[in-house]
Amino acid sequence: MTRVSKLHLKRLLKELKSKRGWGTELISLYIPAGRNLHEVTRYLRFEYSQAANIKDKNTRKNVQAAIKSILQHLKLYRSTPENGLAIFCGAVSYGNVRGEEKIELIAIEPPEPITSFIYRCSSEFYLEPLEAQLEEKEVYAVIVMDRGGAAIAVIKGASYKIVDELNSDVPSKHRAGGQSQRRFERGREEAVKRYYVRLGEHANKMLLPIKELKHIIIAGPGDAKEEFANGDYLNYMLKQKVIGLVDTAYTGETGVREAIYKSRSLLSDARIYKEREAVQEVFERLSKDSRLVAYGIVPVEKALLVRAADRLVVLESLADEVLARCNSCGFFFKPDRSPRCPQCGGSDIAEAKGEEFLEKIEEEAAQTKATLVIVTDKTEWGEQLQKLGGIAAILRYAIE
Ligand SMILES: [Zn+2]
Repeated sequence: MTRVSKLHLKRLLKELKSKRGWGTELISLYIPAGRNLHEVTRYLRFEYSQAANIKDKNTRKNVQAAIKSILQHLKLYRSTPENGLAIFCGAVSYGNVRGEEKIELIAIEPPEPITSFIYRCSSEFYLEPLEAQLEEKEVYAVIVMDRGGAAIAVIKGASYKIVDELNSDVPSKHRAGGQSQRRFERGREEAVKRYYVRLGEHANKMLLPIKELKHIIIAGPGDAKEEFANGDYLNYMLKQKVIGLVDTAYTGETGVREAIYKSRSLLSDARIYKEREAVQEVFERLSKDSRLVAYGIVPVEKALLVRAADRLVVLESLADEVLARCNSCGFFFKPDRSPRCPQCGGSDIAEAKGEEFLEKIEEEAAQTKATLVIVTDKTEWGEQLQKLGGIAAILRYAIE
């Protein structure tokens, strides 16, 4: 058993999610790192004896059989793995006859530590703790504003979304005829203040509930952003997260994009930059020396085979495609008219899932010490990568 990657976990969760039991007979067991396995075994034996009280004969039989399988499986471990262990076991029903279901067991060493012990028996598997490991942990917010209006955007993973926009009723600097200058200015100042208060309320409402919010950037043309950031408009918890003020030429969505672009040094670990830069690098290399780039499924597999791939970029949505795999050499490729493998010429071809291909790439990248960036689709750079067949590698040396 080895620790599963996030990609692999995603696939396992999809599979587990679809499984159902007849009754409450599917067991989900989460063992945190460091937990003594003897204790867990004792706990399970107790649950086994308790299960004897279950009235329904089939459910009783299935729950006890599942606990037995888990106890059996735990014998494979001398101690709890580094990140703990999640075990899903039970009589999975495939809609056939009651009593004919078979006990299945899936054990997962998750990519991140399991924090609490959970034992749950239900008609479906309890997956939330593992699903939480796949969620985007780093969220950033950008408020782009001037005295005329503001846009609030949230950056999650590699994409951003504008979650709120508002306009101010601040009059332009030129007073109407007949009004005294001083009165006009006082009125204007008050309108600005009201607008900042309103913007603060909007930002608090949108951003305070985001637990994972890490940093906030306040951007925009002119000095309104300073006034807003320094004043008492944002909730103090949000104020602590403001890590920079960034000048932009625009407001609105254009301003948001500009602010994200200019905040690179402030948000250095954000995925949005890593993905974009990884794709940009491929295109730069291509224009300089195309022999040092492989793109498309088969060329990248060849590069990995001879350990020439150094940096890989793969479009996440490749996982959802239907591919073909050669049973002789293990190469994947896009199915087309040709019934032969483009690598070895073999004709023993089977349909394969894109996610299996991604797992192969992930594994081979790790083995050959190549870096791998998974690129989110429906982004600008994701679309660029799509043009290269959704996968590309920068090579250590040119290959034929
Ligand atoms: Zn082949």
